[in-house]
Amino acid sequence: AIPLVVAINTSLAARNGMLIRDRIAMEQARDLDAIIFDKTGTLTEGEHGVVGVATIDGVDEDEALALAAAVEGDSEHMIARAIREAADERGVEARRATDFEAMKGRGVRATIDGREVFVGGPNLLDHLDSEVPPDLASFADEAGENAQTVVYLVREGELVAAFAMADVIRETSYRVVDALHELDIEVAMLTGDSEDVANAVADELGIDTVFAEVLPEDKDTKVQQLQDEGKLVAMVGDGVNDAPALTRADVGIAIGSGTDVAVQSADVILVQNNPMDVVRLVKLSKASYRKMQ
Ligand code: ADP
Ligand code: MG
Repeated sequence: AIPLVVAINTSLAARNGMLIRDRIAMEQARDLDAIIFDKTGTLTEGEHGVVGVATIDGVDEDEALALAAAVEGDSEHMIARAIREAADERGVEARRATDFEAMKGRGVRATIDGREVFVGGPNLLDHLDSEVPPDLASFADEAGENAQTVVYLVREGELVAAFAMADVIRETSYRVVDALHELDIEVAMLTGDSEDVANAVADELGIDTVFAEVLPEDKDTKVQQLQDEGKLVAMVGDGVNDAPALTRADVGIAIGSGTDVAVQSADVILVQNNPMDVVRLVKLSKASYRKMQ
């Protein structure tokens, strides 16, 4: 009887846009204690637009945008796209940058007119041992409270500007959290974004556990942390950065147009980028495997 049940389950899953790469993981989905979601692009739309710029005295906003857009180069990161778009919209002239370097989970670095320039978030500031100057602190605090992502421009060791970017919580995320709570599943969120933004999104959605400012290489240790508490854990993500966490999880779920690396690390692939499919997956697992007991 077992092969038959599995067969039914697999085709049912496929019809629901779920590709199962590991049947054991699919079976474990019915017993999950906790599900960890990547924030950006999964629980939120991930479409950042620059909504505010603040600079220190002596630097104007257009100059700051011109530098930041140049440092972002042709980075595919959503933050990079938002900054380039904002520079375009204001018609600021692009600066010439060389020696680009992507600093995973922190930001980007380049050389402009012989000077070293960085753009990045709190993890970058930690790395550079740099601090937000008093004249930019209230801008950054207010943005954080409004769940806006803030990145900073650091030129030759001096933090000269801050950019606030807005992301939007997806409508379905509210229903996903409620539905998982009804199934007695703890909902967690994992992000490289700041504590402020993470907490604002988590409060809004009623998320139980928040891991923020996590570097890509540390994401899997957060999965492990919940497993060490004796929990059976699923991870839902789409990025290259999420791959080790997907591998570590008892059930690794790649979602939407996930990167190849994420897809190859996952047990289940959700074809549509709809977090509600995570709830469907748990319910399908419960319904399918009950028959086998
Ligand atoms: P996530 O966990 O949302 O996938 P990432 O690991 O991609 O986040 O990035 C974490 C943080 O690193 C971002 O919130 C931002 O502060 C910073 N960062 C990453 N890439 C860039 C970039 N290209 N430009 C500016 N900041 C960046
Ligand atoms: Mg991501």
